[in-house]
Amino acid sequence: MSIFSNHFPLGLGTSRFPISGPNDAQGIEASVQLACKALESGVTYVDVGYNYSAGMAPFVLKEAFERTDRPFSVTGKVMYGQDRTADDACKRIELYLKTMGLEKIQYFTCWTIWNYDIFENIMKRGGIYEGALRMKEEGLIDHICCSLHAIPEDIQKIIKTKAFEGITISYSMLSAANMLPVLDAAYENDIGVAVMNPLGGGVIAQNKDYFSFACGDKDNGNTTHAALRFAKAHPAVDIVLGGVKSEEELEDSLEVFSRPDPEPPAERLERVMTSVAGLQGFCTGCKYCEGCPQKIPTPAIMQARNALLFEPASTYNRTGPEELLYHIQMFRPLLHDDGWLPDTAENPCIKCGKCEKQCTQKLGIIEAVSDTFRRAKQAYFTKEAHKERLQELIYEKGYKKVGLYPNGGFSNLIIKLYEEFFGTPDFEWLQFNSDPKMWGQKADERMVHSPSEIPELMPDLILICTYKYDQDILDSLSKYEQCGVKFEKLHRVSEMPWVF
Ligand code: SF4
Ligand code: SF4
Repeated sequence: MSIFSNHFPLGLGTSRFPISGPNDAQGIEASVQLACKALESGVTYVDVGYNYSAGMAPFVLKEAFERTDRPFSVTGKVMYGQDRTADDACKRIELYLKTMGLEKIQYFTCWTIWNYDIFENIMKRGGIYEGALRMKEEGLIDHICCSLHAIPEDIQKIIKTKAFEGITISYSMLSAANMLPVLDAAYENDIGVAVMNPLGGGVIAQNKDYFSFACGDKDNGNTTHAALRFAKAHPAVDIVLGGVKSEEELEDSLEVFSRPDPEPPAERLERVMTSVAGLQGFCTGCKYCEGCPQKIPTPAIMQARNALLFEPASTYNRTGPEELLYHIQMFRPLLHDDGWLPDTAENPCIKCGKCEKQCTQKLGIIEAVSDTFRRAKQAYFTKEAHKERLQELIYEKGYKKVGLYPNGGFSNLIIKLYEEFFGTPDFEWLQFNSDPKMWGQKADERMVHSPSEIPELMPDLILICTYKYDQDILDSLSKYEQCGVKFEKLHRVSEMPWVF
């Protein structure tokens, strides 16, 4: 039994509501109706972050909660970096409570733990975890949970500390070979598990024929249904999160989870895992090829390259070209999950053949590694390319003030890399954000300014650091160009996001 055991197996994900922005009244109303329909249909677990669905998801939920008397439990997510101290965490939860019109949040969630170091920072005296404990004592939250994006070994280590009663992880048949030990550890420790990305971030739904092997006799040839049932098949998994965009999507997921799996879950798990191991050209992530003398992370590279087997999906607000989408899908797990960013695009492989000899799937690893470095060059996916970009944009340009927009993960990385590459800058960094809640606050020791302060502060350059909405931000700030401020996007057209 875990804290999630009594929930309806489908959880409501709120990051994909059909909302284009805060003024999209029609999209907001459609989303409220979707949330109401989910709750009326028996969904009880609601997963929300403050910036989901253009920042409107918490407002949508407030309205939905007012319109229904169905029971629900909701998350309140606090990310290390945006918030660091116990007080920060408490303030963040107060904001969730106020925005959603609630008196209590059931699942305080330490959001997006990337690695064990971040976990340790969260657990430090005066840190986020301490804030969670304080709120639990005050009755503002019920349980302390987390969402994990770390490597499976770190996730298992974190599970074993028993700091969290429930976890949210990314899991589908694409990642199952790596993640099954994580699920086993959660099960042994009675930790509740909610899984996100049960369709492999859209890859399975977009390649239904390829993944049709997932269907058993009783899945009626519906690959999506089979993949959702697979995600729930391990006994540790309590909740499968479905990020719904439309009523049809919601109804489809409800159809799957409103009745028991027609195939015994243990048999489904074993059957699908056997088929995954037999897929042509597919890396199962077994890691037998580990131990490259040149320290090339072959299992991670080969697993990430599975993305090249399928139609690429639109992602990160990019709809093409195809090569860019492939690169995002391939390099994202390498950086995000494995922390791999090569120093240069020069391939260090000495073609010793050790990896290929060990490969259970008989994959052409040497050629694949060479192609990966070629693509890394094309996508500026190297540390050297980052250095060149900062040199081109900022270094020794005679600037007095350089603005970073918005502050957050990208801006922190830019400051860190600049100092690592070129030393202390001879200009001042300024941070901007469109979120009024951040104005006048300090983030990483630097004040966050409103865009309306641009004419007064007059930075020489403002660097649009984010990836997803860089064009939208550039368009919204173009009016300040007439003051003499220069704007540049950090990312070049075919470049990978510096932070995923
Ligand atoms: S062939 Fe290349 S990638 Fe494979 S183990 Fe040898 S050096 Fe590493
Ligand atoms: S041995 Fe083959 S299948 Fe296993 S991780 Fe390496 S490349 Fe993938």
